[in-house]
Amino acid sequence: MTPPTEEPYGDMTPEDFRIHAHRLVDWITDYLTHSDRYPVLSRVSPGQIRNALPASAPEAPEPFEKIFDDFERILLPGITHWNHPGFMAYFAITGSAPGVLGELLCAALNVQAMLWRTSPSATELEVTVLSWLRQLLGLPSVFEGVIYDTASISSLHALAAARERAVPEVRTKGLSAHSDQPELRIYCSEQAHSSIDKAVILLGLGHRALRRIPVDSSFRMEPNQLASAIIEDRAAKHQPFAVVATVGTTSTTSVDPVTAIADICTTERLWLHVDAAYAGVAAIVPKLRGALDGCERADSIVVNPHKWLFTPFDLSALYCRHMSVLRSAFSLTPEYLQSNEEEGAVNLMDTGVQLGRRFRALKLWMVLRSFGAKSLRTHLQRHVDLAHQFATWVDSHTDFERMAPVPFSVVCFRANPSCNKLESAALDTLNEKLLEAINSSGEVFLSHTRLHGQFVLRLAIGHIRTNEDHVKRAWLLLQEHAAPLFACQSSDHSTTESGSLSG
Ligand code: PLP
Repeated sequence: MTPPTEEPYGDMTPEDFRIHAHRLVDWITDYLTHSDRYPVLSRVSPGQIRNALPASAPEAPEPFEKIFDDFERILLPGITHWNHPGFMAYFAITGSAPGVLGELLCAALNVQAMLWRTSPSATELEVTVLSWLRQLLGLPSVFEGVIYDTASISSLHALAAARERAVPEVRTKGLSAHSDQPELRIYCSEQAHSSIDKAVILLGLGHRALRRIPVDSSFRMEPNQLASAIIEDRAAKHQPFAVVATVGTTSTTSVDPVTAIADICTTERLWLHVDAAYAGVAAIVPKLRGALDGCERADSIVVNPHKWLFTPFDLSALYCRHMSVLRSAFSLTPEYLQSNEEEGAVNLMDTGVQLGRRFRALKLWMVLRSFGAKSLRTHLQRHVDLAHQFATWVDSHTDFERMAPVPFSVVCFRANPSCNKLESAALDTLNEKLLEAINSSGEVFLSHTRLHGQFVLRLAIGHIRTNEDHVKRAWLLLQEHAAPLFACQSSDHSTTESGSLSG
């Protein structure tokens, strides 16, 4: 092991950097190709990693070989491999090779894109790639885009803009300045993501400002119930100001009826924000274009390329048709950030809370160019087809049942033995055990949700390398691990690859 050679500033020497970077890229190449060598879900216990690490930072420099050795020996076992084709939990994502290269370059440039002048390319590339993405999504040019880290932050900014429009003096006086300011009200479905609750809390509206509207049997917001809730709130002298519709809810990927909700928002003069964090990108596929129907009428929409567009975490795109309102909520330029640019220079720090901004557009640019739109469409359609195939196997098996429609690439289902009719609590326990057994296999990682109060398994397809073999394997494992839990007399609950034999 070579000790670090002398470098006047204590940084790695260029020679060492070249050697380690090449080795690291070789390691990453193998990892991206064979990440399935590792158990997808980490098997360490709480505290194990921390106990294996020194309690304090070293005084003296350490060789990179040793640091990397510790990464492999100590940290790698504590990694849950999101970049594994068997990762089918939550929403499966991909750090694709071009995206990883984009991140590498981003770290090397270490650009901070707060002002146009602090890296004109970072600002102008962000504007350009968001325009490319908008066109692929089929959204009108009235939408201006901005990149944040996550959908939670995108929605927070969208709702801050909505609040700014509803109560123009809120920025100066706050909400409590007027004793006659009615309580604000905002609406989303029972299935909307918890990031909306957090945004409401953070914006100082009070959690009770958020009304969750009931959903239909397919987990979509009921527009009639929304309309009634607004009438009720107006009668109680509250001030409705925004509605959040979801395209691709977290549990089941259901799609709220955005057109009907947009009609209500137009009539009631409410800001319509669409949370399309996961499913919005599906609209680039011609057959799935309808996913964003009605969204052209929204005030703001969030889509996350880091969820289902093969872009390494993190990158969330917010599109807004009133970016000037968002800017008036947040722009504030202290003297030391003043700059007299020529006209046309956009300072992206004005569109949010953060001053410092990563050069995230670089990786999205690399992903969009390296894949090309045609290939991206093919992969998304392939994922949807795989999910439908899995759903067909579930549907035709007597001991499994599907628990929700499959609009995109997520299937909600559970085991329910035909030989042994179980009460709902026992069924929950059975499925909890099944999930634990599947996840301890190390081959696949699934997650769960609750629908109508019942424990439901979720299989989410979204990793670029997930193919039919992985989905078949997941199905076989589910059947194998379920059978011993069924407590049936006969063992006539055969395991099949397609489910067609035992269905
Ligand atoms: N909205 C929806 C519909 C989601 O499913 C999620 C996360 O899964 C989020 C928002 C939050 O995403 P992020 O982690 O980017 O904040």
